[in-house]
Amino acid sequence: MLRTERLDAYYGLFQALFGLTFEVKPGETVALIGSNGAGKSTLLRSIVGSVRARPDGVLLDGRPVGGDPERKQLDRGIALVPEGRRLFPSLTVRENLQLAMRNGRKGPWTIERLMKEFPVMEAFQHRPATALSGGQQQLVALSRALVCNPGYLLCDEISLGLSPVAVNEVYELLGRARSDGLAVVLVEQNVKRALSESDRFYCIQKGRVVLEGSSEHADHAQVAQAYFGI
Ligand code: ATP
Repeated sequence: MLRTERLDAYYGLFQALFGLTFEVKPGETVALIGSNGAGKSTLLRSIVGSVRARPDGVLLDGRPVGGDPERKQLDRGIALVPEGRRLFPSLTVRENLQLAMRNGRKGPWTIERLMKEFPVMEAFQHRPATALSGGQQQLVALSRALVCNPGYLLCDEISLGLSPVAVNEVYELLGRARSDGLAVVLVEQNVKRALSESDRFYCIQKGRVVLEGSSEHADHAQVAQAYFGI
């Protein structure tokens, strides 16, 4: 289980997270919901070490892992799909995936499997990442994390700015990963989608959890209230 325990996070003197406790169990999908600036990305960044955390602020199977760099978290099976994708623009799709694989773990996800299950990726594998549409780039960004064979996949706004068709494609790929048993943490602006894709949700406001529960039984009015802070 991956857990944050009373986690605080700072950007210089500015405090972005206040004693945030959150967990995701193996095989579970958890959505983080909240308005812009609530602290969702900061939570993911604190888990992978790009924002500083105290060692016992992040626990993996009960062991303190907070503050370790992203590379080390990846070795442990925690992978981030960052907001904005951040692919290497001058490399081809295949090269982007090959580079990621070198840092990853062995497991069921290989470049060959991705190409087989998503023939569209095979078709553009030799194109530079920048030559792709936003939706195609997002598929590659998600694939880049998958070929590292993580146990926990942290997804930051993977549907942002994409067409409805592209959003569905991205969620289809994520669905395959989930059916393979991956645990997923989903930061998603579309609340309806976030709830329909997840088992549980946390609503975050100004760096604190203000509501949490089962996504299936979520009271949408209550979630909207928590989201807007009213
Ligand atoms: P969004 O959907 O806009 O990404 P979010 O819920 O992910 O929202 P965060 O990006 O985690 O929110 O931001 C939480 C708070 O931290 C905000 O007040 C934001 O302005 C601040 N913040 C985020 N990144 C930085 C940074 N690099 N330097 C300073 N402050 C930051």
